[in-house]
Amino acid sequence: MDKVKGIDPIDVQCYVNQIIAKVEFLNPNEPEFLQAVKEVIRSIIPVLVKNPIYLKQAVLDKLVEPERMILFMVPWVDDEGNTKVNRGFRVQYNSAIGPYKGGLRFHPSVNGSVLKFLGFQQVIKNALTSQPIGGGTGGSDFDPEGKSDAEILRFCQSFMAELSRHIGPYKDVPSGDIGVGTREIRYLFSEYKKIRGTYEASVLTVKAVGYGGSFGRKEATGYGIVYFVEEMLKNRRMSFNKKTVVVSGSGNVAIYAMEKAIELGAIVVACSDSSGYIYDPRGLKLDTITRLKEFENKKISDYVLAHPEAIFVEGSTGIWSIPCDIALPCATQNEINSVAASQLISNGVKAIGEGANMPSTIAAIDLFLENNVLIAPYKAANAGGVSVTALEMAKHSKSLVWKREEVDSKLQEIMKDIYQTCKETSEAYDCPGNLMVGANIAGFLKVADAMIARKVSTG
Ligand code: NAP
Repeated sequence: MDKVKGIDPIDVQCYVNQIIAKVEFLNPNEPEFLQAVKEVIRSIIPVLVKNPIYLKQAVLDKLVEPERMILFMVPWVDDEGNTKVNRGFRVQYNSAIGPYKGGLRFHPSVNGSVLKFLGFQQVIKNALTSQPIGGGTGGSDFDPEGKSDAEILRFCQSFMAELSRHIGPYKDVPSGDIGVGTREIRYLFSEYKKIRGTYEASVLTVKAVGYGGSFGRKEATGYGIVYFVEEMLKNRRMSFNKKTVVVSGSGNVAIYAMEKAIELGAIVVACSDSSGYIYDPRGLKLDTITRLKEFENKKISDYVLAHPEAIFVEGSTGIWSIPCDIALPCATQNEINSVAASQLISNGVKAIGEGANMPSTIAAIDLFLENNVLIAPYKAANAGGVSVTALEMAKHSKSLVWKREEVDSKLQEIMKDIYQTCKETSEAYDCPGNLMVGANIAGFLKVADAMIARKVSTG
């Protein structure tokens, strides 16, 4: 920032325009990162107007730069003996509040833009949980689809050979994301343990319960979304009971969101994977979906073999044309664009619970807001996983073991608190009911204050 003249809103607007122009200039061809930055910046303008210290101390200038971004080569050998090479990344985005914490994603779409967006949003999300954790993310453009178990193992070993230099329980604690579930975490953890020669259980989270994982962690993100949406619905005297729900994806987040929604009386009529979606207006059978996706590694199209009364439609975007009361996008970024949002609105959708990270484009969000559709913003709604992870880290440091019911009741409390924080913050900044603004401001304030309190150059 060149010069701060005061707290005139026009000066603040000029300042944020400069920041956005700088981010565009320094990060060309990084649309996801730019979108995530813009979404936060437009929410926090009133905060900057009230608090000139954030401008003077260049908090925003720092927040749009990751503290460190590591890029490395991951060579591995396939089952035919051929050597393959992928890119590995770790973005250590911001450590003002605590060690870097955030997922690892294995997917061919992984690149610097996607990982910087994930790291940036993770910083705000982790702050919102009120746990002592900073934000980071990482992964690879490796495509697990169609790979044998032995190939996944060899890839994970090679990936960890480099990643192990950069992580540690008090430094950077990765967890899962798309393409990285309990199996991959098991392979990564075993390799880390071998390389370091120590059993540092809290260096990776989302482990299975038998070797340092927490009961309830794999369910936490999905359950947490439903707990958050339930709070949001209560505020309008509604609930999940008898509501028609459409969920995108059928991975870790989607499966447990469906499980909790069904438990609360909802009828889940559709879900998807990268090949297409299944639809049954009488309600889907979750046992079959879990068997196919969690245990047999099959495509969702196989569902209709067991349930011919359902239909399978190729291509995943059409799922948003199905009429529903509540939509839970739980697959990937930007899966709801303005066309999908318009379809949902004209079919009478009442609430959106964002399970995936940044599942709605900015245009889609604006349409939902204009049409009075409730939105549970992803930074708040999907924070259940990282919150339970932080409990898992604290538990390791005290060698505690919590029961599933204890974790679930802590998760419910945390999601209620996060909802309340978003609601109260949106009201305090004259945007009542806009939980996205509430989440962005509340998270930003915590990170900004930590950065200022520490008066250090990086974070
Ligand atoms: P996952 O277990 O790998 O599942 C992802 C699911 O989405 C799979 O069913 C996948 O289909 C589907 N999918 C991927 N790309 C798609 C596309 N373009 N169209 C339709 N479906 C697509 O991953 P996850 O852990 O559930 O993560 C899902 C989302 O939640 C991501 O945005 C992630 O960043 C976010 N999230 C996850 C956590 C967590 O604790 N895991 C926490 C916070 C946020 P296939 O099976 O065909 O690949």
